[in-house]
Amino acid sequence: MEQFEESIYRLIVETSTNLPGDVRRAIKAAQEAEDRATRAGLSLSTIASNIQMAECNVSPICQDTGMPTFVLHVPVGANQIVMKEKIRSAIARATKDGKLRTNSVDSLTGANSGDNLGPGTPVIHFEQWERDEIEVRLILKGGGCENKNIQYSLPAELEGLGKAGRDLDGIRKCILHAVYQAQGQGCSAGFIGVGIGGDRTTGYELAKQQLFRRVDDVNPVPELRQLEEYIMDAANKLGIGTMGFGGNVTLLGCKIGAINRLPASFFVSVAYNCWAFRRQGVLIDAGNGEIKEWLYPRGDEVSMEEEPEAAAQPAETEQRREVRLKTPLTEEQVRNLRVGDIVILDGEIHTGRDALHKYLVDHDSPVDLNGAVIYHCGPVMLKDEQGEWHVKAAGPTTSAREEPYQGDIIKKFGVRAVIGKGGMGKKTLAALKEHGAVYLNAIGGAAQYYAECIKRVNGVHFLEFGIPEAMWHLETEGFAAIVTMDAHGNSLHADVEHDSLAKLEQFKEPVFK
Ligand code: SF4
Repeated sequence: MEQFEESIYRLIVETSTNLPGDVRRAIKAAQEAEDRATRAGLSLSTIASNIQMAECNVSPICQDTGMPTFVLHVPVGANQIVMKEKIRSAIARATKDGKLRTNSVDSLTGANSGDNLGPGTPVIHFEQWERDEIEVRLILKGGGCENKNIQYSLPAELEGLGKAGRDLDGIRKCILHAVYQAQGQGCSAGFIGVGIGGDRTTGYELAKQQLFRRVDDVNPVPELRQLEEYIMDAANKLGIGTMGFGGNVTLLGCKIGAINRLPASFFVSVAYNCWAFRRQGVLIDAGNGEIKEWLYPRGDEVSMEEEPEAAAQPAETEQRREVRLKTPLTEEQVRNLRVGDIVILDGEIHTGRDALHKYLVDHDSPVDLNGAVIYHCGPVMLKDEQGEWHVKAAGPTTSAREEPYQGDIIKKFGVRAVIGKGGMGKKTLAALKEHGAVYLNAIGGAAQYYAECIKRVNGVHFLEFGIPEAMWHLETEGFAAIVTMDAHGNSLHADVEHDSLAKLEQFKEPVFK
């Protein structure tokens, strides 16, 4: 059983730090389908570099290491109680080693357990089977994409698509709508698992199970195979693109399963997974606990290396400037920026997520935020033996959660820029215009890429909120992000949403009779 724990630890580390070959191939194909010089193309290049860096550094691909969900198949008679203990112990060790972020939070008090253990964490499902080896599959699905999961109850009226009935065509509409509503917020381009039928719980379970299928497998059910192919084609015509920046590739994979339902219920459940599609599996020898086989081959042959930089020229439709700025920022510098500009930041920035935003609305800031840059980020941090903090992963988190607070905080403290992912809403856009600030979209999931840009940890406040929610003061050099909401009332996110809704409407007519 000691070796079983070691095998689980290796599975966790591999899943968190190294994307399997089928996922890499899908991302590589997306790169080939986009013009490298567009925002989507540049984002995919960053993603590719990030994948490479995570593998080389054996560090988390994304700072949100997600909800660890294990699915085990075990021989009859295997001791599930001991296996559960060993899995929990391996999770705690991987967290201590900085391979997983401290991600388990008390739902009532907000206290972080600090080791990824707690009621409901990790998720462990056991099934018995006739074989005498142990199969363990693990998926690490982050909160940003988890929040974009959606469940439909048919019949339904869907924005852009009209009535969705209780038939294959209604299911088609739900799936397309699920991709549309996610926009770039789940760190597109994404993968979806779809569960047709069941009740509300088993429908979502089935959807998540689909994510364990290989990206390149073929559905044995002809109707579902046809639907999967249709969705891949249609969803990639919505123009949402990587990070919701617009582009040719919005969906990297679609897997659909069906189970029986009650006559009165007709659920279509969609599990949305970001490009950082971290799932892996192993077959373990039940006798000695050693790994016999990896279930998703590593894909060492798929290089994520980039072509020479010279090929990247801005596309005519996407004029942009590159502007280098040092923090703190002035109102003049910020009002000079336009949607599409690439900003390269040097100097100190401050992380802030949900807990900090809620706090700052009613309290003073412990540091001067006049001209400051707030980064929506919950990093993975490790303290060395000398007591110095180091950033292990530091990509952006979903900004939309801060929408109720952001405008007030910009006004109250004179914040000049907010970095995050997925964009923000009308209230923030109005505050950017009124008070002279910008929203900068960093590449969601590019946690290693951004960790490289952070040269020093200057300090931290509110560690009592937990490591991800604390206010980290980080010294950056060459931190690149794209202006997607400017101080002139422009929002790339609103434009892409508007355009993709118009494109969605072309799929209103029935396809599957
Ligand atoms: S890539 Fe984006 S959605 Fe996925 S886990 Fe990371 S931050 Fe969350």
